[in-house]
Amino acid sequence: MLGAVVIGIGTAGCVRIRDMLVPLRGSPAEKLAVKGFISRRSLEPQQGVSRISLEEALGRDDVHVAFICTENMSHEDNVRMFLQAQKHVCVEYPMTMSYKAAVELWDLAEEKGVILHEEHIELLTEEYKQLKREVEGKTLQEGTLHFTGGALKPGFGFPSFSGIARLTWLVELFGELSVSAATLEEDPANSYSKMTAKLLTSDNRSLTWIEERQPGLPRAKNINFQFDSGPLTQIPPAPRGTVGLFMQDLIHFSAKLAGQVSPEELQRERVRVLHCLELAGKIQELCQG
Ligand code: NAD
Repeated sequence: MLGAVVIGIGTAGCVRIRDMLVPLRGSPAEKLAVKGFISRRSLEPQQGVSRISLEEALGRDDVHVAFICTENMSHEDNVRMFLQAQKHVCVEYPMTMSYKAAVELWDLAEEKGVILHEEHIELLTEEYKQLKREVEGKTLQEGTLHFTGGALKPGFGFPSFSGIARLTWLVELFGELSVSAATLEEDPANSYSKMTAKLLTSDNRSLTWIEERQPGLPRAKNINFQFDSGPLTQIPPAPRGTVGLFMQDLIHFSAKLAGQVSPEELQRERVRVLHCLELAGKIQELCQG
């Protein structure tokens, strides 16, 4: 068994505890045993799991794995501490708020001989899988992905990083991208923000990614993809899967811990994660420059 701790008891952290307490039967997630959680708040036990100190988690021999579920801005420091203590790390996206820091963390994981995994539940949704099937084999002319949502709490960072799930969709659907322009409109009085990034595919097709947030805006993803064969303007409906998204991610992470994921697949994920973080950094630079 591998002992695990959860850092950050928000929505994601609570789900991590729940999933480790009742893992999918017959899956490699059964090999994880939650030993405690770490919180800046002095919380009572959560789902029967007790709070422990950061020092204890870092020092204990029966803690092999850390789940970093804090707000985005503190991911990097937490990941680094646990990697340095030679623990495997699963971090909720985005891993860091810069490409350079993510490269350093991945190098550190390699040096320590541990797994570093970034959760990407957006690639595990049935709607994404259906969309991927629809897009396969089609030639893009141009497209737009427009996300709307409510305001984010503090600590979630620049929109190109907090919205990395949308960028990851575009990269997985259309391959490596480059950034040609990016702007950010803000109206602080109304907690409004709209980031517009102009992206290019490797064969110079234009993709526009918009992240628009304001309290009360419905959470939605609108697409308009023009293909040689015709337009796709709606994400195809798909029935909900039977296994929860975080559980699917937990199984994927624990398969990595069990050595069941090929080096090629690990490398493919690393390349994708770093590519998306690099694009997010360039978008931020252009918006702020
Ligand atoms: P959250 O706001 O619920 O929690 C974020 C952090 O705030 C946690 O560290 C939590 O311990 C802390 N926190 C929560 N309430 C607090 C309070 N009252 N006082 C002090 N601290 C408090 O955010 P979340 O949705 O759990 O997101 C955490 C990470 O997971 C983020 O990196 C996010 O990008 C990622 N993530 C979340 C989801 C999701 O569905 N929630 C999906 C994918 C990725």
